[in-house]
Amino acid sequence: MLRLHGINTRPDSHEAFQSARDSLEHCRTSHLKCQSPGPGYTPRFLISIWKIDDAYHCRLQLCSTLGSAEAVSYATSSYCWGNAHQFRTTTSNLDRHLESIVFHQLPPTLQDAVVVTYKLGLRYLWIDAVCKSSLKEEYL
Ligand SMILES: [Zn+2]
Repeated sequence: MLRLHGINTRPDSHEAFQSARDSLEHCRTSHLKCQSPGPGYTPRFLISIWKIDDAYHCRLQLCSTLGSAEAVSYATSSYCWGNAHQFRTTTSNLDRHLESIVFHQLPPTLQDAVVVTYKLGLRYLWIDAVCKSSLKEEYL
């Protein structure tokens, strides 16, 4: 039976995120096609996210350092990069991003992606401009 939900006028509310987490969990546990494809599909880099008090923190992380053979659950965000000054990882800032990506220096769209990922209960995020740019050869 199809369950219809009313339109939530507060998409950032606790109830809205609880509903999204429930749907994600239902998808993971009930849909065969939505099962994790396995560790072979883990990208080389992910953004790890954590929260201390009310502040979000993140850094780029080499997935081979995650220390788990199991596939890591992560969200993805892909968007139009826009102009050349868009926030992204390059060879010149890779080491800095591996140490820390300052949350408040992210553009609003990427800040939203970090917050939504965290509130969905996920701790890793893949953003093409940040995780896939021209990176040092030793990591490729
Ligand atoms: Zn599904």
